[in-house]
Amino acid sequence: DLEIVPSPCLTFLNDLHSKYKSLREGKVANYIPELAKVNPDLFSICIVTVDGQVYEVGDYKQLFTIQSMSKVFAYGLALEDHGRDYILTRVGVEPTGDAFNAIILDEQSKRPYNPMVNAGAIATTSLIKGSGATERLNRMLEMFRRYIGHDVFVDISVFTSERTTGHRNRAMAHLMLNFGMIDQNIEQALDLYFQQCAVMVNCHDLAVMAATLANRGVNPITGEQAVDSHYIKDILSVMYTCGMYNFAGEWAYKVGIPAKSGVSGGIFAVVPNQMGIAVFSPPLDARGNSVRGVKVCEELSQHLGLHLFECS
Ligand code: GLU
Repeated sequence: DLEIVPSPCLTFLNDLHSKYKSLREGKVANYIPELAKVNPDLFSICIVTVDGQVYEVGDYKQLFTIQSMSKVFAYGLALEDHGRDYILTRVGVEPTGDAFNAIILDEQSKRPYNPMVNAGAIATTSLIKGSGATERLNRMLEMFRRYIGHDVFVDISVFTSERTTGHRNRAMAHLMLNFGMIDQNIEQALDLYFQQCAVMVNCHDLAVMAATLANRGVNPITGEQAVDSHYIKDILSVMYTCGMYNFAGEWAYKVGIPAKSGVSGGIFAVVPNQMGIAVFSPPLDARGNSVRGVKVCEELSQHLGLHLFECS
């Protein structure tokens, strides 16, 4: 008789999932009205290795909007469109220690601090090339398709909800327009930014995207090059220093792998040349990171010895 034995990795993910299922701290984001409707109990963990093995548990097929996690991929596209030197003149690479939605620019250069905070992400998105709004959106969606391996869609309810209420982001765009750091057409840039944040993914997709970054920009499932490998180090560096909101320093210290979270409750982490990790659980802590997501990543990093500077 053939007995199917679960792999040690899957068993570990199942244990983590059962352990943290009962953790009920945190609150789902409600500043974008449509996000407040999500079921707080949804919970999934997924690992995809660079040689294409997949380990997943929980609600890994459940779709949610990518939110801030999109900033990483948009930054890669902007780098491909303009090159590193030009992008550096428009968006810095300095962590802020402030909240993701702080309305601040670098005093001297007037640049937003980094592409992972909202101001920097809006500036980055405003640089995506295309002859009009539709072409820019299509280039963005096509970029996501390469990372994920299938077509993606924008959740119109979340997009409209954020577009109607996103006055803080609008204020940042106006501030950057005032300093000439972003071009005239700010409504178009904001629309594209809100659309990129409302792209729907599931936990499996996110882990494939993370694994693509871990695999020098090549999607390990489809074999397609999603982003020029030349820019992987730029992307992972800003994720490492700025990806977890104002928890980025503590995350780098404790978990020690580049990651990005979003207000929808997702976190994805990249272990270069090894694997992509994704966790989805909507309730957030005070800094905007998924409560269970942080716990699961801390344990995974410890258990699998993933900290980049681990040498014992
Ligand atoms: N669309 C959200 C915003 O701009 C993204 C924020 C996030 O996930 O951190 O407010």
